[in-house]
Amino acid sequence: MLKKLPASLIAIHLQMPKQKAPRKQLKSYKLKHINRTIQEGDAVLMRSSEPGKPSYVARVEAIETDARGSNARIRVRWYYRPEESMGGRRQFHGAKEVFLSDHYDLQSADTIEGKCKVHSFSSYTKLDSVANDDFFCRFEYNSATGAFNPDRVAVFCKCEMPYNPDDLMVQCEDCSEWFHPSCIGTTIEAAKKLDHFYCEECSPEQQNMENSNSTSKITDAKVGEYKTQPGGKQDEEQTHQAIRLT
Ligand SMILES: [Zn+2]
Ligand SMILES: [Zn+2]
Repeated sequence: MLKKLPASLIAIHLQMPKQKAPRKQLKSYKLKHINRTIQEGDAVLMRSSEPGKPSYVARVEAIETDARGSNARIRVRWYYRPEESMGGRRQFHGAKEVFLSDHYDLQSADTIEGKCKVHSFSSYTKLDSVANDDFFCRFEYNSATGAFNPDRVAVFCKCEMPYNPDDLMVQCEDCSEWFHPSCIGTTIEAAKKLDHFYCEECSPEQQNMENSNSTSKITDAKVGEYKTQPGGKQDEEQTHQAIRLT
């Protein structure tokens, strides 16, 4: 006697020979849940899998849906935050710094929380104000080895640190080197009020003035905050020492 198969098994059997539905590649896609359209190359914020953690930053590499145009999936290239890298966050890493990794994933479009901007280092330093959705990237990051590209970066100041765009620096009018106020024995507030600034090496008198706690004779200093920070064209031509990033 022929045993009747349960309905569920029949359904599975019927589906088996069927070919996987073809997926469509799209150049852009409207995300209804945030009412924004994303395109290849856009930077996006994606919901973190761990509650309380900041959103992931990713670059949209490709967009695909099923044949009916639903179930959108995004091929992303992750940006890593400094704390997600092997070396961790270092003093010269900016608060909004991310590294373009070689780590790709396929994610549901539903996990996208919004769009954001990942600026080049120099365009980030030229922003008038930094919004929540502004980030910058100056390094590519190899997620397997922890290596950075470029693997060297120019250093500034007596402390010989790479430039952190969040930190204010003052520029010596003579040698054009940049300094952190704290490294030259002053405060950020006092540095902002400087009209002229010559570093210790360029001005031995200045050293004496600092020792006597008098800054009243210093006038017209170039104080960098975003717009005139190291990293501009002028500074690229200067020869700076570099440190190796490992
Ligand atoms: Zn310094
Ligand atoms: Zn100098």
